[in-house]
Amino acid sequence: MAELSDRMKRLIQPHLAGIEPYDPNFTPTEVNLSANENTYELPAGVRAAVDEALAATPLNRYPDPLSDELRDELAAWHGVSREMICVGNGGDELLYNFLLAFGGAGRTLLTCPPDFSEYAFFASLAQTSVERIWRDEHTFELKRDELLAAAARADLVILTSPNNPTGDVVPPALARAVCQACPGLVMIDEAYGEFADAGASCAALLEECDNLVVLHTLSKAFGAAGIRCGYVMAAPDVIEVFGAVRQIYSVNVLTQAVALAAVRARDAFAPVIEQVRSERARLFAGLQELAAACTPEGTVWAGQGNFLLVRLPQASRVRQRLRDEHSILVRDFSYAPGLADCLRITVGTPEENDRLLAALRAELGQ
Ligand SMILES: *Cc1c(COP(=O)(O)O)cnc(C)c1O
Repeated sequence: MAELSDRMKRLIQPHLAGIEPYDPNFTPTEVNLSANENTYELPAGVRAAVDEALAATPLNRYPDPLSDELRDELAAWHGVSREMICVGNGGDELLYNFLLAFGGAGRTLLTCPPDFSEYAFFASLAQTSVERIWRDEHTFELKRDELLAAAARADLVILTSPNNPTGDVVPPALARAVCQACPGLVMIDEAYGEFADAGASCAALLEECDNLVVLHTLSKAFGAAGIRCGYVMAAPDVIEVFGAVRQIYSVNVLTQAVALAAVRARDAFAPVIEQVRSERARLFAGLQELAAACTPEGTVWAGQGNFLLVRLPQASRVRQRLRDEHSILVRDFSYAPGLADCLRITVGTPEENDRLLAALRAELGQ
């Protein structure tokens, strides 16, 4: 594991001395199913609308700090007011700002791992303690009673729905109970929300829970990970804080233009999302067959995102062989607590999924 030089360990803020330098170790492959990007082409017409919007965007002026045009479009879509939305440079910036503004020394963030590793990372940057209520080790279900008891003493809660990497959703009734139990703010990270079943979103709870923050991104369903655009929805006074702590020009003019064109064309993404969902079902069936042949450890979890989590014998080796022999990249979680021998596989196009399944069959001798 890489570490800082001794000199930097002395110079950096003490609570950051254990931080790891960024590891750019990345092997380009023909098929990349490792980062839960949308691997489908932008819907017909959307790319043209995006290009037109970019061509019409002056570059010499600073961006509108709050992305008001985009906020208005998002607000109309979600049936909330502009004052309930803050746009960020990807969901990641908003997650960091959430911890920066509401965390800090002496405060505790409650999470339910295995979940998105950035939460604990941003908490550590912001000197926020993390309390973990681990999910059931076999089913990855949330432990409702323990979660509610811990929420009552937490300053912040983040739950992920669908969860990355386990794929399950937080029932809105449970999210409501967590909001009622927690004296602080509760974020529901719905980065993959568009891929979930109807009724899974917690956004409707914003009307009754003034301590709820719902995070969305254009990186996944909208196929726009490259532009870096996410947004939070919350009560206006919460949004004021998000607006106050952010770097004023973090969402650049090109991002705002592309995001606005994409969100205006949101209906055109419905067929892509439908196809990802049906490919997810097909991939699930294929992985289930493979996993069943790998008794006793083989398992695949039914997920509601654009990815699936599968446990296979010698997962790290399988992942390496997929990369080196088949030019397919998937994400290895073997090293992560609770995820021994687990791989997370993004749902790709039908051709990509076929290629993945064939490679896995070859590697597992089936
Ligand atoms: C991808 C992802 C995000 C946000 O990603 P951005 O690209 O920064 O918008 C947030 N939460 C989870 C769980 C994710 O997987």
